[in-house]
Amino acid sequence: MPAMRLSIVILLANSLFAQTQYDLLLKGAHVIDPKNKRDSVQDVAIRDGLIAAVARDIPAKQARKAINISGLYLVPGLIDLHSHVFAGSDGVGLAGGEASIFPDAFALRVGVTTVVDAGSSGRRNFAHFKSTVIDRARTRVLAFLNIGGVGMPGDAQEQNVADMDAKAAAQLAIANRDIIVGIKVAHYQGPDWTPVERGVEAGAIAKIPVMVDFGEFRPERPFQELVLKKLRPGDIYTHAFYAPVPMLDEQGHLLPYLFEARKRGILFDVGHGGAAFEFRQAVPAVKQGFPPDSISTDVHSGSINSGMKDQLNVMSKFLNMGMSLYDVVACSTWNPARIIHREQLGHLSVGAIADVAVLRLDKGQFAFVDSFGARMDGSQNLVGELTVASGRVVYDLNGRTRDRWDQLGKYQGQGDPSWDGTRGGGHPRPLPPVH
Ligand SMILES: [Zn+2]
Repeated sequence: MPAMRLSIVILLANSLFAQTQYDLLLKGAHVIDPKNKRDSVQDVAIRDGLIAAVARDIPAKQARKAINISGLYLVPGLIDLHSHVFAGSDGVGLAGGEASIFPDAFALRVGVTTVVDAGSSGRRNFAHFKSTVIDRARTRVLAFLNIGGVGMPGDAQEQNVADMDAKAAAQLAIANRDIIVGIKVAHYQGPDWTPVERGVEAGAIAKIPVMVDFGEFRPERPFQELVLKKLRPGDIYTHAFYAPVPMLDEQGHLLPYLFEARKRGILFDVGHGGAAFEFRQAVPAVKQGFPPDSISTDVHSGSINSGMKDQLNVMSKFLNMGMSLYDVVACSTWNPARIIHREQLGHLSVGAIADVAVLRLDKGQFAFVDSFGARMDGSQNLVGELTVASGRVVYDLNGRTRDRWDQLGKYQGQGDPSWDGTRGGGHPRPLPPVH
């Protein structure tokens, strides 16, 4: 075929294609995308599971499905940096008798598309965790591998220093780089630094960060030494606003060492949980310029039914404490993505994985409860409206992407649990892994 005619054919094909070049177009929402410093009303177009365009006005006719979501906020799919999702396994609970929860049961409905399990499994049961949860969930599951061999069975095994093998943990992490993003140290009650040191050693070998739950706070191993000496830049202390953390002096001023620790690169994660978040610590910290680096839930069967509730509840708490919505979103998207070295997540750049959370910010009278059972009144509350994971609608509170029942004619085929955009729905499938 002559070159001229071929180019006309391509031109024609392109212009036909241009009619519906996107699978899903979300129009008119206020987009907050901290990586790209976006904080304005934009349209977001998705194609083949990826962000295809972000612009002020993308014509609706260019998409197979276009919906108007003006009045809502559109942000990258949320990342919960501290969760417990090794559910349904043989006796794996958490210290205190709480249990992990299957991720799809709580994450997608509040805009969370990626959860990071914080050490529920160790090297001896990671394979079981992977086959029963990680490979089956629609929510993307990444993991901090516990330095203890069996993770968090919630008993004396978590204190078994002899089973904290840094080299073996690092080896497993290296062999599962697509899932294991860090090492977890947790729940230790002894007077020595062994678990922290083994965790850091494993992290150094595998070149991944370590997340520490300091367990019992003991005078033999001061918290200041953990964040000023023992941890490396890029390592994470979770439970930032836990009551035993030395945070305020007698006059109620923040202790200077906290800023020193932050300056040397130690990251402070919320890890709300059932016992680790107190307004008494968090309110003065935020007011005096020490907000968290990442906002996470520490979700398990106990915390989800007490003060914590879900990711949006924890984000709303910080919003009502005075953080901007932009910063609260950054702490739940781009910040955690960087902390776990997954820069392909947590933003809406063209070509990025199309994980999107559409949120409603309600104004009115609300109240929030910390893990001590104390209440804080507030005037703003975030609600999950629509969640898209890898380009597919996985949660749609108000059926915004659906057609009216009386305009559909005769129902055909099976029910459509998730509008698919390209394949017309069908049974949910797990998201592709992120390497
Ligand atoms: Zn935890």
